[in-house]
Amino acid sequence: MVEVRSVHKSFGSLDVLRGIDLDVRAGEVTVVLGPSGSGKSTLLRTINHLEKVDSGSITVDGTLIGYRRESKASARRASGKGGGRRPGRLYELREREVLRQRTRIGFVFQNFNLFPHLTVLDNVVEAPVAALKRPRKDAVAAARKLLARVGLADKADAYPRQLSGGQQQRVAIARALALEPKLLLFDEPTSALDPELVGEVLDVIKDLAASGTTMIVVTHEIGFAREVADAVVFMDGGVIVEQGPPAEVLDAPRHERTRAFLSRGV
Ligand code: ATP
Ligand code: MG
Repeated sequence: MVEVRSVHKSFGSLDVLRGIDLDVRAGEVTVVLGPSGSGKSTLLRTINHLEKVDSGSITVDGTLIGYRRESKASARRASGKGGGRRPGRLYELREREVLRQRTRIGFVFQNFNLFPHLTVLDNVVEAPVAALKRPRKDAVAAARKLLARVGLADKADAYPRQLSGGQQQRVAIARALALEPKLLLFDEPTSALDPELVGEVLDVIKDLAASGTTMIVVTHEIGFAREVADAVVFMDGGVIVEQGPPAEVLDAPRHERTRAFLSRGV
């Protein structure tokens, strides 16, 4: 479902991703662990082209993200018009095309990022109406179902500021699901929450996992990773140090860096 190949990304002289290769199979949950600054958020952000890669490629459900590979036929047609495009070369997509790709990839952030001036229901309805041109009536019906699924049917008319952090994050998950994404990305979805609210958000994510949603989850919740992940990836210094099933990476890590991280959390 997700194929990351030799991805490099720098910010100025800082090499943040230094050759990432990652495969995520459809219906599987991949948990990404690693110390602060190791490139976890940057990796997630490249997957929906919030960051452009410097080299390498990312494919989601067979679609190359952010770029179009010139086919022989279209290069020939373009060169006939003086275009001079080369087959096999990557050309960056226009913003509108990138936005279309992004509608199929849900992103849940640490700080919820809800629209403060919209009700809970309208937060969930907004994207399918604006981006997918769904009739509002259908989007409202779907949003009510999603709010029920995350346990917030009774909060449809509330505003984000009236909700706890855990409730806001569950709205954010419902909002991401409203676009019927093929892939859901979570960047530390519980790290802004008070400890007693973490469980309710993780329970929603577990429920999605059980229903076969393909997800990449950056988190420090090792217990969650052990319970839910099909694969665990440990990143450090812009590379994947080790990856595999949770029983291997978490319980029998092969690398000293992974062992140190798991024992000290840094
Ligand atoms: P954390 O656990 O703290 O969230 P992370 O693993 O998610 O860390 P990233 O946010 O991917 O790490 O950042 C990796 C490195 O890239 C950091 O040194 C960060 O300061 C740097 N970085 C990230 N985004 C940018 C940017 N837009 N411009 C410059 N530097 C950046
Ligand atoms: Mg981060």
